[in-house]
Amino acid sequence: MFFSFGRRRRRRAIAEKPFPASWDETLRRGVLQVGWLNGEERETTRRWIAVFLAEKRFEGCGGFVVTDEVRLGIAGQAAIVTLGLGLEWFDSLRSVLVYPGDYLVPRTTPLDGGGELAWHEARIGETWTGGSMALSWTGVVAGARLRDGPRSVVMHECAHLFDALDGDIDGIPPLVGVDRGRWLDGMAGARARFEMALDDGRSTAFDDYAAESQAEFFAVASECFFQDPHRLARHDADLYDLLKTAWRQDPKRRVPVNPTRGR
Ligand SMILES: [Zn+2]
Repeated sequence: MFFSFGRRRRRRAIAEKPFPASWDETLRRGVLQVGWLNGEERETTRRWIAVFLAEKRFEGCGGFVVTDEVRLGIAGQAAIVTLGLGLEWFDSLRSVLVYPGDYLVPRTTPLDGGGELAWHEARIGETWTGGSMALSWTGVVAGARLRDGPRSVVMHECAHLFDALDGDIDGIPPLVGVDRGRWLDGMAGARARFEMALDDGRSTAFDDYAAESQAEFFAVASECFFQDPHRLARHDADLYDLLKTAWRQDPKRRVPVNPTRGR
């Protein structure tokens, strides 16, 4: 991807400005994951968040008003997933649409006898390869406070964005340190073990939405990787290691064992 000198310079200037104390306070209150970061990681996320907030367009939908709390609740979780990457991460994303809660999308299906069935499907978030993302604010908050086990709609949609960087949203992100064949075999094996556990009624690290497709498997497993990495590694150490390579970070080093207990 090409970056103009002017853009790089502007970005560096944004990243080097002092991070507002009120933003630190909002992050501390609203995004539990920020409390797990060491000093260096916190500095890295601050720079990334400052650039993200300066460059992305946030838009409230359905009467929703976007405040700093909203921007930081989203950017704070997105910054966790980019820790092993760089400032240029998520350049493909231009706008973030925020709904107050789950939102309805009109859907239709053709019927066998002719005509079509129309209905509305509730969504919590989605990502389009063209550069926008939609999120439900109640979903964002649930992820930031670990209220929904290891789920985080922000991290989920970020995983789809990462996946989309090399073309399709197909469960294959840009890979460094692992070749494509090893990735495909490793992920297929992990998905087969996961589906077998579901069939047998055994407990799994993350929920069965992951079984929808290879892309959803990567996104849902990645949520668990960042939100409850010890749980993921206990259930499937090979999958944890593959995701560690893909995301270029090792969240087990910072996230407490059982982070979702009592939430
Ligand atoms: Zn998804």
